[in-house]
This record gives sequence, structure tokens and C-alpha cells, in this order.
Amino acid sequence: MSARTPSPKTAPCFGSFIGNARAVDILRRAIGRDRLPHAMIFAGPPGVGKCTLALMAARRLNCLSPEGDDACGRCSPCVRMGAAILARRLECEKRGDRPCGSCPSCRIREMRHPDLHLVGPDEGKTAIGIQRIRGLIGEIAFQPIEARYRVVILDPADRMTVEAQNCLLKTLEEPPSRTVIILVTANPYALLDTIRSRCRLLHFGEIQPEMIERRLVEAEGRPAAQARLAAALSGGSLGAALDFDTAAYSGIREQAFDFVSLLLGKGSFREASAAAAQATRDKQSFLIYIDSVSALLEDVYYARIDPGRVGQRDLLDRIGPLARSVRHQTLVRSIEGVQRLKLNLKSNVNRQIALEALFIEITRR
Ligand SMILES: [Zn+2]
Ligand SMILES: [Zn+2]
Repeated sequence: MSARTPSPKTAPCFGSFIGNARAVDILRRAIGRDRLPHAMIFAGPPGVGKCTLALMAARRLNCLSPEGDDACGRCSPCVRMGAAILARRLECEKRGDRPCGSCPSCRIREMRHPDLHLVGPDEGKTAIGIQRIRGLIGEIAFQPIEARYRVVILDPADRMTVEAQNCLLKTLEEPPSRTVIILVTANPYALLDTIRSRCRLLHFGEIQPEMIERRLVEAEGRPAAQARLAAALSGGSLGAALDFDTAAYSGIREQAFDFVSLLLGKGSFREASAAAAQATRDKQSFLIYIDSVSALLEDVYYARIDPGRVGQRDLLDRIGPLARSVRHQTLVRSIEGVQRLKLNLKSNVNRQIALEALFIEITRR
């Protein structure tokens, strides 16, 4: 196994789940007292770890030597269910059109526990149809094969067609023995009332950006500045922060650096206007651009007063000269100007004009 491929033994347990402490606590205590409801809905925004937590619960329910109310991570059920947790973020290392099936990541992805059922829309489909649910009901009609608890995770459960939901009703009401069914959804009200009334609802909320930032730096090894930005733009979703596209970001940051150089170095209006036109083409990346301008200005500021606090260490030798040449007043006014611009963006102002106006305000005084 290559160094960068994680081992299923290191898959996270409850203890390292970030955010939603209340939901985690309810779940851990219910499992510890053997009082877990047999049908549950995990409801909350995308990317906050609902399915991951469901898998962690499956792991703890089946661990052969639990440590307190967490799984040991080492026994055979723990390893195979841990593989399912890791598999959510692993891609084939050969990066071909289809998974090679033999690289370390593929081997983890293909580890299966026979009593863990992850049900989503079939390949190429958007809905979970009645056939899939009938098949599932057939699969779980008998005792679990080896697990103490069989765990069924439907994700996203709101993709079930109405027929599929109706088909599942009886199973939710009288689940087969030693079976826990978890419906994962960002939109619980898209489920039938009759489904909701048969399940215990567990609510999830957004994760604080500071927690996401810390996770990205400490567990994922992301550079501090990138982690800060990814967390700030994640909307409280760890999934979104993990998917944050580093390559695209570097390109945008280069553009932002050009604008900051013009702003602090008093470039010409023509150059600034051209930079603004390039930056404002795409609304989504413009928000990243402005955050990047803001992060760069902050780093120029820190480079002047306390270089140890510069977040974007990789740019230190380019930020340094800017920091030495700019007047303190200009820098402070630029930082304030960008903050105002960010606020104004919420009221749909013309993005190009806003950038040009900022440039004029800072340079023509
Ligand atoms: Zn275990
Ligand atoms: Zn592979």
C-alpha cells in the first residue's frame, strides 16, 4: 500500500467527527445504551457528514471490542466498515476512464461488509426506483449474515420515487430484526409524511468555518491560506471545502495578485480596468477572487508588521517587496475598501465598476 493511501484502520471514528456535536452525542449515547431507533432520518445541509456519521454508527454498532462509546477501529468489522467511510473520498490512483480495480484505493473501495447496505440512485440515474427498494427488502428479509446489526443507509433518501417510498413503509414500521435503517437527506420534507412519521429525525446544521479550517490544515495538510479561504467559501460544508479546487484557485490568486500589485503600486487605470474585466467574467469565481484580494492585502499588512503571521508563505518573496514599498495609509485604505466592496456585492452592484471605483479611490488621492 503506498504511503498516501490511508489504511481502513485509520478511518475516522466518532471522536474525530467535526461539528454537529449534539447530533453526535445523541447517537453515541443511544448506541451506548442499546437504544438506537430502528429507523432514522439524518437531515441537514449537504457536506456536513450525515452519511459519514451513519457509517461511523454502523462501525460502532458492529465493533467487536468497542472503547467506551467509540469503535476500536482495528477489529474485522471495524476495518471493513472503515473502508466504506474512506471510500467516499478515494479515487482510483490510475485516473483512467473507469476504476482499475487493483490500485490500493480501488482495493479499499471494493472492500465490502455483507451487512452494510449503501443505497443510492443507480449509475446514470437520478432517482431511486421501486425495483431497487424491492431488491433491498428482499436482501434484508433474513437475519444479518455476520453482523450484530445490519445497517441500511439510503442516501440521498429524497431521491426515492413516491412508489419506492410507499414500498419501504412497511419495512420502516416493522424492520427485520437487528436492522437499523438510516435515511440521509438535505430535504426531509421531500419525503412522504408517512415516511417521516415512522422515523426518528436527527437534525444537522452547518459546521463553523474555523472548525473546517483547522481540519483542512491538521488532517489534510492544506496550506494555511488555502484552508482559510476554502473554509470561508464552504458555506459550512466540509465536503465543499475538501472539494475546493486548488488548481483553479491558484489561477484566480495570480489574477488577484496582479490587481493588488496595481492597486498598491499605483498602476495605470487602463491596466486596472483590464484586470477587473478579466476577473468579473464569472460570478462564482469572482467571489473567490475578491476573497483572494482581501487575503493578499492582509498578508501584505502582516509582512510589514509581523511577517510570522503571513498566511500565504509560498508568496512571501513576492509579498515582501510590495510590503516594503507601499505607504501604510494606502494599505489600510485598500483593506477597508475591499471590505466595503464585499458588503456591496450582496446588493448586486456592477462588479467591474465596483473594482474600478476601488482602484480610483485608492490611487487618486
Ligand atoms: Zn472494532
Ligand atoms: Zn484503481
